[in-house]
Amino acid sequence: MANCTLITSGSAALLVDTPYTARLTHRLKTAAYQVLPPPVEISTLVNTHANGDHSYGNGEFPGTEIISTEANLRHLCAEPAPEELERLLDQCDEDDPFGRYLLAHFGHFDYRGLSPTSPTRTFTGVLDVPVDDLTVRLIEVGPAHTVGDLIVHVPDQDVVCAGDVLFAGDVPVHWAGPLDGVIDACQQILDLNPRIVIPGHGPPVGQREVRAYMDYVASARDRIHALHAEGLDVDQASRILLRERRAGLGLGERLAILTAVEYRHLDNRTEPAQLVQMLKAAVRLAPECVPGTTPARHTFPPQPPRS
Ligand SMILES: [Zn+2]
Repeated sequence: MANCTLITSGSAALLVDTPYTARLTHRLKTAAYQVLPPPVEISTLVNTHANGDHSYGNGEFPGTEIISTEANLRHLCAEPAPEELERLLDQCDEDDPFGRYLLAHFGHFDYRGLSPTSPTRTFTGVLDVPVDDLTVRLIEVGPAHTVGDLIVHVPDQDVVCAGDVLFAGDVPVHWAGPLDGVIDACQQILDLNPRIVIPGHGPPVGQREVRAYMDYVASARDRIHALHAEGLDVDQASRILLRERRAGLGLGERLAILTAVEYRHLDNRTEPAQLVQMLKAAVRLAPECVPGTTPARHTFPPQPPRS
């Protein structure tokens, strides 16, 4: 699941990213209001990027200011709406490996009942947002994971929310690239000398883990560039990266997506990225990533036991 971060001065509150489903958002709101002293309310939302797992819950905070980069707002039209995802999943065939892959990763989320809401305030570069006496600094670092990524710096707490320019525990997926953009974004995080960095997915980390992640991304970039220079096509290069993948990192099939994205830049191709086609290719090239069974639809998070 994507991380959401509640930032409060004690008398005002801001939320970085919103959950993927209405039910998860209601649970998050309940948890947040157990922590916030009344009458403090979440008055500002920040979306680190436009992917649904970081922004679908926006509509569950009516009247709240939603801040993101101008590029994120422009990119929203390229993101699938929740009802499109529901339709796609309804049409998935369990006998088809790609259908089974989609159902396994997305089928247990319930996208019904969401009211996706666009950012109401955008910026480029840097924007300081006061949360009463606490300063929250938004820094545009895209294109990297997507075209319009931002990171959130809370200088008083030495904390940075990285969004999806940083993943912990899994092979990262980056849709926009190039990978140099991801590495530059991580360097900007380190330049802030943070004590804690909250990645888009996975547990909070320190600077050492950010450096290790940058090394990993740089080694993938170097390998992809070398294979491109040798004249290998994207499928051949992807197969080699998949064969050489590091044990211990989950979602290895994403290496095929990283390769496809980096090849687009190396080949100076400017047409819009075909996300579904890249995912299809990853499933074709890494058939071992396709599970044998899929969970029942709409079952995440698990229902609490009846009492
Ligand atoms: Zn994400």
